[in-house]
Amino acid sequence: MKPIVIPGITQLHNYHRMISNTQRLGFVPTMGFLHSGHLSLVERSVRENAHTIVSIFVNPSQFGPTEDLATYPRDLEKDLALLSKFDNIAVFTPTAQEIYPPNYRTWVTVSELSEQYCGASRPGHFRGVATVVCKLLNLVVPKIMYMGEKDFQQCFILEQMLRDLNIPVLLQRCPIVREFDGLALSSRNTYLSPSEHERALCLHKSLITAKEMAANGENDINKIKAKMIDIINKEQGNIDYIAFINETTFQPESALTAHTRILLAVKIGTTRLIDNMKI
Ligand code: AMP
Repeated sequence: MKPIVIPGITQLHNYHRMISNTQRLGFVPTMGFLHSGHLSLVERSVRENAHTIVSIFVNPSQFGPTEDLATYPRDLEKDLALLSKFDNIAVFTPTAQEIYPPNYRTWVTVSELSEQYCGASRPGHFRGVATVVCKLLNLVVPKIMYMGEKDFQQCFILEQMLRDLNIPVLLQRCPIVREFDGLALSSRNTYLSPSEHERALCLHKSLITAKEMAANGENDINKIKAKMIDIINKEQGNIDYIAFINETTFQPESALTAHTRILLAVKIGTTRLIDNMKI
């Protein structure tokens, strides 16, 4: 059965009246063009909650002026077909005009964290993300929101926002879903040609190699990083950053610890890909 579509805020209020407010509502925010990574979040929400709302909204404010807002892949009919196997689910598809009406002026900035790594190469990106997620939470009013660790920095920033703004929603992180060959699923993988897809495997391969080096006793971050750079350079990947961070504090690590996670962003051709792994 096709899920209920909630095209705007008025209909969202009607939906709220329809479901009992004592029942748990789970929320999965997405930009659509759904793949198994998104569906893993939906599956978990459906399992854990009486009702689930999935939002599909390509949020203009998180795209830079030279980024791919206009060409970002969209296919609502296919998304609805993929969601039709789930029960008790509704799909919120607001328009940009309704989320950002003329004279819109309020922005949520999670300082410092938003300027590092992905934020450094995508100025304003996390301001757009934090703002839209804050607005969507105010509209949807879920108990729990499901997000993928694929976007690890995004999870960390939004958890900070929930704490700082006393938003009574739990962010449930979910593991990265990969293709059989290791490539982390992403709507943007559709931009990759078959040969670029092959080259893009270097992200996962470099992370796996780092994990193996650490498991074999290597503790020198510079040596591990040099090997990762080597693997990525061989595939002509253009490295934006490779960061070794403490996943509980988001601070850079100078030596490996039990909390080290490696984050990386690499351009393959014109497509910017991100991935990460706990070491
Ligand atoms: P997006 O549509 O790219 O904004 O992603 C919506 C949600 O799906 C975010 O919480 C992402 O972290 C999550 N997500 C995207 N790709 C994956 C993946 N490969 N595995 C798990 N979660 C993912």
